[in-house]
Amino acid sequence: MTELNIPISMPSMIGNEKKYVNEALASGWISSSGKFIKRFEEDFAKFSNAPFAVSMSNGTTAIVTALKALGVGRGDEVIVPTLTFGATANAVVNIGAAVVFADSATNSWNIDPEGIEKLITSKTKAIIAVHLYGHACNLMRIRELCDKHGLYLIEDCAEALGVEYRGSKVGTIGDIGTFSFFGNKNISTGEGGMCVTLNSDTNAKLRILRDHGMDPQKRYWHLEAGYNHRMTNLQAAIGTAQLENIETLLQRRNEIYQCYHNELANEKFFLDIAPSKSCSFINWLFPLCLSDSYADSKNLLMKYLAEKGIDTRNFFFPLHEMSAYASSQSDFPNAIAFSKRGLNLPTYYHLSDQSVRIICKHVRGFFSSQ
Ligand SMILES: *Cc1c(COP(=O)(O)O)cnc(C)c1O
Repeated sequence: MTELNIPISMPSMIGNEKKYVNEALASGWISSSGKFIKRFEEDFAKFSNAPFAVSMSNGTTAIVTALKALGVGRGDEVIVPTLTFGATANAVVNIGAAVVFADSATNSWNIDPEGIEKLITSKTKAIIAVHLYGHACNLMRIRELCDKHGLYLIEDCAEALGVEYRGSKVGTIGDIGTFSFFGNKNISTGEGGMCVTLNSDTNAKLRILRDHGMDPQKRYWHLEAGYNHRMTNLQAAIGTAQLENIETLLQRRNEIYQCYHNELANEKFFLDIAPSKSCSFINWLFPLCLSDSYADSKNLLMKYLAEKGIDTRNFFFPLHEMSAYASSQSDFPNAIAFSKRGLNLPTYYHLSDQSVRIICKHVRGFFSSQ
């Protein structure tokens, strides 16, 4: 029997990536000027149906720059789900604002809008809604709350590129949407990120902040203490090629979801968490939630799959439990339950249906031997 070696994820360079990178190299523009930056931003804006897209060095700097552009800083509070990748909260902490954690919903691992209002104080400045594992948050409720209380809404779309909420692409309902193009995301530029906005002033601020805070009309004149959060032309060359195949790439991810779902949906250990009816769904890393009586076996299952050569990931750990965030909050039953029962299974363009069926065979095999 051949040994399996199935990684959790892999970038999928199926088009003009090499060609465009070579063009960028040949042009000599390998830093943050060059034609691919403009082209990638324009193509991304078009894909998102938004007027403005501003490329960034990665998904985390995209969030930092977004917060700064909206004027969030020291003394402000930002509401963030406790169940997310640490980068969402790190961005808030590192601009000097305070993180206030929110629980997940009962029927979704995403932030529970009903729990948000009680967290709002006179210091609250923004909410970061994270669209985790390819599901969109209940953006309507969250947008309403933001409008009612005069708060900014940032959408962290790192795991939801291509998802639509009530017909709009995620990232365009908040004041700013942020994206990541890390190697395991729906499209990749190696490292890379993007901010999307409908507001031209916000667009201008994002561009100034990412470029050292420099006045676009006057070089070496700093309007504020900004950052170097720029993407390179080499990264943008890859991104441009990735976007040319975006529909093919996203479609394959959802075919993989269907294959997993067909294989697992009737199993007793499978807890089906459906995306909200208001949103489309793009499979990032297949999220497998174990039902109550099986959740305790999750670590053993992950170990068993690793021994078979199948890489998996734990759902994120709730951030409020980590000393890094020094949170005094503690009441997050839904986030804790999701974190305990959830794991991600391999998903990437080149993963075949046959491999998905083999993975599922091993998952079922583990539980039938329990
Ligand atoms: C990947 C990710 C980020 C960070 O993106 P980087 O490009 O790795 O900095 C932020 N938030 C979420 C939810 C992510 O999954």
